[in-house]
Amino acid sequence: MERVREHLIGVLVALLPSILFSQSPATVPGRSAEHYAGIVTEVELRQHLEVLASDAYQGRDTGKEGQKMAARYIREHFISSGIPPIENAPKGTVVEGYYQPFELIEEISGSISITHKETELLFLKELLYFNESIKEDRSVKELVYLGDGSSIGDVQGAVGKVGLVKEPGTKDPMALMGALRKLGESAKGTGVDVLLVTTDRMEELVEKVGHYVSGSRMRLPVKGEAMEGGGGMQMILVSQDAMDDLLGKKPMRKLTRKKVGSTVMVDFVIRAKASANKVLSENVLGFIEGSDKKDELIVITAHYDHIGVENGEVYNGADDDGSGTVAIMMIAKAFAEAKKAGDGPRRSVLVMPVSGEEKGLLGSRYYSEHPIFPLENTVANLNIDMIGRTDSAHNGANPYVYIIGSDRLSSDLHVINEQANESSTKLVLDYTFNDRKDPNRFYYRSDHYNFARKGVPAIFYFSGVHEDYHQPSDTVDKIQYDLLHQRALLVFHTAWLLANTEERIVVDGDVE
Ligand SMILES: [Zn+2]
Repeated sequence: MERVREHLIGVLVALLPSILFSQSPATVPGRSAEHYAGIVTEVELRQHLEVLASDAYQGRDTGKEGQKMAARYIREHFISSGIPPIENAPKGTVVEGYYQPFELIEEISGSISITHKETELLFLKELLYFNESIKEDRSVKELVYLGDGSSIGDVQGAVGKVGLVKEPGTKDPMALMGALRKLGESAKGTGVDVLLVTTDRMEELVEKVGHYVSGSRMRLPVKGEAMEGGGGMQMILVSQDAMDDLLGKKPMRKLTRKKVGSTVMVDFVIRAKASANKVLSENVLGFIEGSDKKDELIVITAHYDHIGVENGEVYNGADDDGSGTVAIMMIAKAFAEAKKAGDGPRRSVLVMPVSGEEKGLLGSRYYSEHPIFPLENTVANLNIDMIGRTDSAHNGANPYVYIIGSDRLSSDLHVINEQANESSTKLVLDYTFNDRKDPNRFYYRSDHYNFARKGVPAIFYFSGVHEDYHQPSDTVDKIQYDLLHQRALLVFHTAWLLANTEERIVVDGDVE
C-alpha cells in the first residue's frame, strides 16, 4: 500500500511539477528559511556596500588593486561567516583557498601605425581598426588591388600580401562593422593577411565608432596562445588623403581603371608596438557543502568588479554591481549559519562573486570553461546584477524586481522562484525583459548567461538601468536599501528551495 501511494505521488509529481513545488519552504526539515532569512539584514548590506563602493576601492577595475582589495574583503567575510576554503579542487582546475584565479589578455588599442617617408599615420586620425592581429613591423612594397570588393572572389594566390579595397558603402556608420566583417571574410579567400580599406569619411567614422575601439579590451587567452600571439586578418581603414599619399603618382581615383587582382607598387612600413599585457584576476568562492544531496550544486553569482577610475573620477559602482555582491555575501552567511545550526542545505551552494564582468562576462566565462564542480551536477544559477535602485518604469510603483531567464531552460525554476516570492517577499515580478524580443538583450548581458549557454537553468535578478548607470554618480547614497534587502531575500528563498526540494528541477527548454 505504501509503495503504491509513493508511486502515485511520483507520477503526479512528474506530470505536474508545480504541484511538487507548492509545498511551502516550511516543510524543509529544521528551522524555516524564514528564520535564516533574518540573517540577511538591511544594516549589514549597507555596511558592506559602504566599504566596497567607497573611493578607496577605486572602482574595482578588473586586475587592478581595487578589485584585489574587494576580493580580500569578500574572502574575509566568508572566513568570518565560518565558510571553509575549498579543498581538493578537481583535476584541471586551480583553486587557491577562496579564489579561482584566472589570466586575461589586455589589448591596448592604437598599437598599429603606418610610416611613409617622414610622416606617421595614427590610430583615430588617419587610421581606424577594430582588431590588432599583426604584432611585427611589416615593410610593404606592393599592394593587391581589390577594387570596391564586389569581385574579390575572383582573386586568388595573394598569400601573405597586403590588399587594397574601397570602403563598402554603408550609410550608417554602425552598419560598417558588419559590412567590414563580410569584406574580411571574402578577402580571406584571396590569401591577403592585411587589408587596407580606404574611406573618404574618416572623421565621421572616428566620431561615431571610435570610442568603441579606443582604450583597452580584455579577453580570455585562447588555448596555448603565446602573449605575442595574434594571427588572423588585419583590417585597417585608411583615410582617402593619407592613402593617396601612400600611393604616390597613382592615387585611388586613377586605380579604378586597374584590373582587380593587379599589383600596385608602394613603399611604406606598417608598425606594430607591443599591445598586450597579461592581467590576473580572480573569482571568489564561498562554498557551503550540502548534506544528503551534496553532489548537486546551486551557484549564486554577482560580479564584484566595476569599471575603475577614468580622468581621476572613481566609478564606485554601488548599484553595478556592489548591490548584487553584498546581497550574495549575506546569502552565503545565511546558508553558513543554517549549516552551523544543523539546518544546512541538502544540495551544495556555491556563492561566487565573479570578476571581469564589465570586460565581457570573463570571470563567469572562465568558470563555465573550468568549472570547479561539474556543470552536469549544477542544478541552477541565480545571478544578481544591479538590484539597488528603481528605474523610470517603476517610479512610485510597488516594490518590484525584473526576472530574466527563469523559464528559458526550466519550467520548474520559474515556478520555484514565483513560489519563493509568494511565500516571502511578495515583490512584483516584472518579466518585461524576459521577452525574447527584448531589444536590450539583457538575457545575454550578465554572468548567468555563461551558465545558461551550457544548459544550466538560470535567473537574472535586476532592477533596471538608471541615469547613473556606468557613471561616477552610481554611489551608495542613491541605493534604496529596503528594496535591495527585499530583492536579496527573494534570491535567498529561491536558493533555499532549489537546494532543499526532493527532486532536482527539470531541464525542459533549449539552450539559446
Ligand atoms: Zn556594468
